[in-house]
Amino acid sequence: MKDLTLPFDKALLDRIVAEHPTPFHIYDERGIRDNARALDDAFSWVPDSTGTPGGFKNYFAVKALPNPHVMRVLHEAGMGFDCSSMAELVLCERIGVRGEQIMFTSNDTPLHEYAKAQELGAVINLDDITHIDYLSNGLGMPELICMRYNPGPLREGNVIIGKPEEAKYGFTRDQILQGYKPARELGARRFGLHTMVASNELNPDYFVETAVMLFELAVELKEKLDIRIEFVNLGGGIGIPYRPDQTAVDYQRVSDGIKAAYDRLIKPAGLDPLRIVFENGRVITGPYGYLVTRAIHRKDTYKQYIGLDGNMANLMRPGMYGAYHHISVPGKEAEPADQTYDVVGSLCENNDKFAIDRPLPRIDIGDYVVIHDTGAHGYSMGFNYNGKLRSAELLLHPDSSVTKIRRAETLEDYFATLDVS
Ligand SMILES: *Cc1c(COP(=O)(O)O)cnc(C)c1O
Repeated sequence: MKDLTLPFDKALLDRIVAEHPTPFHIYDERGIRDNARALDDAFSWVPDSTGTPGGFKNYFAVKALPNPHVMRVLHEAGMGFDCSSMAELVLCERIGVRGEQIMFTSNDTPLHEYAKAQELGAVINLDDITHIDYLSNGLGMPELICMRYNPGPLREGNVIIGKPEEAKYGFTRDQILQGYKPARELGARRFGLHTMVASNELNPDYFVETAVMLFELAVELKEKLDIRIEFVNLGGGIGIPYRPDQTAVDYQRVSDGIKAAYDRLIKPAGLDPLRIVFENGRVITGPYGYLVTRAIHRKDTYKQYIGLDGNMANLMRPGMYGAYHHISVPGKEAEPADQTYDVVGSLCENNDKFAIDRPLPRIDIGDYVVIHDTGAHGYSMGFNYNGKLRSAELLLHPDSSVTKIRRAETLEDYFATLDVS
């Protein structure tokens, strides 16, 4: 079962809102830190390059929550960063993160982005076999290079990311067996192997199967081509329980399954020590973010509507994917959910609905309406359609104090790229 408790109550919200008007996203620092520690603890057995435990790392997918304040919290907790754009690389640079703390997993990559990644010393993860020459001719082959494997029909994928053979990412199986040798001839000396075949996946065994797939491939690369893979990157994609009846992925179960596969496949092949890394975004911050809004309208027509002061510019997932986000009404926890509402924003788009036919307690104008699980792919997917402005972001510290970590956009921001003075 999902944990439905909020890290703030109505009284604390009253205090926060007195200074920071709704709507805003607020992130729970304690929850983020505790979760980061739990993930690290589960994988504490993973060896580093010398064979000592401590070789595990999650490279937080910056696109999930590209805010330097949250990134600093994650970096303190031992995480690196997975980037796929210039802005994400520059965010790392601005907070003082460089080198192999950055994984550059991009696709359709322009040369100037590879140049920035190389300047920062990031681990470069190639999305396609043609990028070996593209990178080498344009900038030179780095000493450490990683390649992204797409198993195509050999793997089922899951609902959100779709079938691997229809995904635009990665090398085919033949290509991955052909890619490392030329990279070595061009000067690469250290090698990584990556895949990402799931998104928002809640089945822990799926990640064990992914590890088995990469372990077997690493063994094949050693035996057939004498390529020694030094790390496997299992990608992101660990899901979170958006719905109340769903259960969080048990990190320990994933780790135990991966360790058993490591002992069975990697050790006998002489590939130990092999580092294991992930690039999860959603599971790292998703459950620890909340979009706090207020009800500004109630509307009774063919259905009952609650109109919020937030809209899909603040959170795309329900409109874009039909995704479920749980909703709480602080102060009304004890009241029965005996109303059925569509909870909507103000865009001129009928899919600007945070919830459809949702049983909720009676909502009055002025009530807080809190939308759960907005800590990943929430603010960052926002947009300015209809001239809607993006909200502020707040960080809730363990002592219940709050820092504004991004101000809300203003009309001047919206007009900044126009000449209308
Ligand atoms: C989006 C993405 C991630 C993070 O995915 P989550 O579902 O947020 O864990 C990791 N790696 C790559 C290459 C991605 O595109």
